[in-house]
Amino acid sequence: MKTFVHRGQLTKVVFGSGTRAGVPEEADLLGCRRVLVVCTPGQTDQAAEMRDLLGAAAVGTFAEAVPHTPVEVTQQAVAYARSVEADSVLAVGGGSAIGLGKAIAVRTGLPQLALPTTYAGSEMTPILGETEGNRKTTRRLPEARVRTVVYDIDLTLTFPAASSVVSGVNAMAHAVEALYARDRDPLAFLMAGEALDSLVRSLPVIARRPDDAEARADALYGAWLAGTCLGTVGMALHHKVCHVLGGTFGLPHAETHTVVLPHVVAYNRPAAPEAMARVERALPADDVASGLFGFAGGLGAPTALRDLGMPEQGIEEAAELIVRDGYWNPRPVDRTAVRDLLTRAWAGEAPRTPPGAGRPRTDFVIEPPITTGARHA
Ligand code: NAD
Repeated sequence: MKTFVHRGQLTKVVFGSGTRAGVPEEADLLGCRRVLVVCTPGQTDQAAEMRDLLGAAAVGTFAEAVPHTPVEVTQQAVAYARSVEADSVLAVGGGSAIGLGKAIAVRTGLPQLALPTTYAGSEMTPILGETEGNRKTTRRLPEARVRTVVYDIDLTLTFPAASSVVSGVNAMAHAVEALYARDRDPLAFLMAGEALDSLVRSLPVIARRPDDAEARADALYGAWLAGTCLGTVGMALHHKVCHVLGGTFGLPHAETHTVVLPHVVAYNRPAAPEAMARVERALPADDVASGLFGFAGGLGAPTALRDLGMPEQGIEEAAELIVRDGYWNPRPVDRTAVRDLLTRAWAGEAPRTPPGAGRPRTDFVIEPPITTGARHA
């Protein structure tokens, strides 16, 4: 007999093409009259368009969002929000902008709207990750929940192919860990499977044709589902590893998820057969970890942590931090296993495969290879 607990979402979601035109109405429905727009320095054009659309209901733009939500940036943003007497926050962008929006909301109680432009999924979670010094902490807080999310496929058309691939694999990682989460429920399992199907279908198309609107819609749909999974059930080893690597070494978020995922899947595979069978249904392969490795690598994504700026001598420190705080994982974690996994991921080796497993799939390979990660070098 099935027994489960499902926690429903409290976020309104509007999904489609051209939907950003409806943001002023959504803000109005929430009673927002003085909206502060936040974005990264690279997305001021999209933020400016939203300010124009909001007209008198927009009171300022804070365009200094950066990855991993450093508290010193948040403090400046909160001071700015107070100085313009903002009564709400609209985050335009990926997880960096949305993370800053959450950090402001948690400190001020302001309601938030989000217009996501990547596949990271933060908009659908009550999780606030922040960095202070070189340590990252995450908390689940009701105040971090975004009230209204407007997905506009058109805004994702400018997201470069290489970034889209790694961001999409970041979403796949949420779905994979949701499939074997300790508190997984039937709805999360269905959403995670559907997310994987959509992303496996759409990312190879986007890698070739970033302006393919159908594939963009499919990927954003998968990202919404994967983000919802992340917000609904607990994550495990994969997210812990990426969180430590991002917070401690400043590694780029989506790229780190992309490199690490096949290695964690290889590790967790024996302990999560039902989850792995669902991943395999989305991405048929002789071995599920090699399948993921071949998928991402074939689309030009990075495969080595060292190429993302991780120092080799950091492996030991990372392994220590990853095992230090106890957390649940389908397979018990020890320092030796984590060190082994990190060493392979650092060097760009294929994940460990069980005896008899085939070679990684290569049918996704894009020729000529697309360039990734250059802006993070
Ligand atoms: P990001 O928000 O840093 O965006 C990456 C880059 O792409 C930025 O330079 C951005 O300006 C640019 N960009 C984004 N959308 C674009 C578009 N449509 N067109 C052109 N350029 C675009 O990256 P991300 O991977 O979305 O977010 C990473 C951050 O989100 C990390 O800090 C991570 O910890 C956080 N995150 C948090 C959660 C959560 O639930 N709390 C979930 C996922 C990610």
